[in-house]
Amino acid sequence: MLKDLPSAPCKGPLACPQYISRRKHIRMANRVTVNEQVCKGCGLCTSVCPKKIMVIDRDKLNAKGYNPATVSNIELCIACAMCAIMCPDSAIKVEKE
Ligand code: SF4
Ligand code: SF4
Repeated sequence: MLKDLPSAPCKGPLACPQYISRRKHIRMANRVTVNEQVCKGCGLCTSVCPKKIMVIDRDKLNAKGYNPATVSNIELCIACAMCAIMCPDSAIKVEKE
């Protein structure tokens, strides 16, 4: 689960009310966004995700009738962007904080 993080850089446990640990704090700020209306459910992104967290959502259909890709566990994402690079329709945006 993503946490709402302050816009200023983390200054550590004494200054940041949401401090967890610097490593975990950075990791929790990663974001992967799939444009579900552009996605055609081809599954290419799922095949390259090293953490196996990019999956096809079989319970959802987009306007074109495809099952879109989604991230099953964002906390495991390392923001490698392999999914975004692989997507032929540029439907994925990866943000690393
Ligand atoms: S950025 Fe990397 S780890 Fe995260 S969902 Fe995409 S392929 Fe998987
Ligand atoms: S590679 Fe792109 S179009 Fe294919 S399932 Fe993933 S997000 Fe959808």
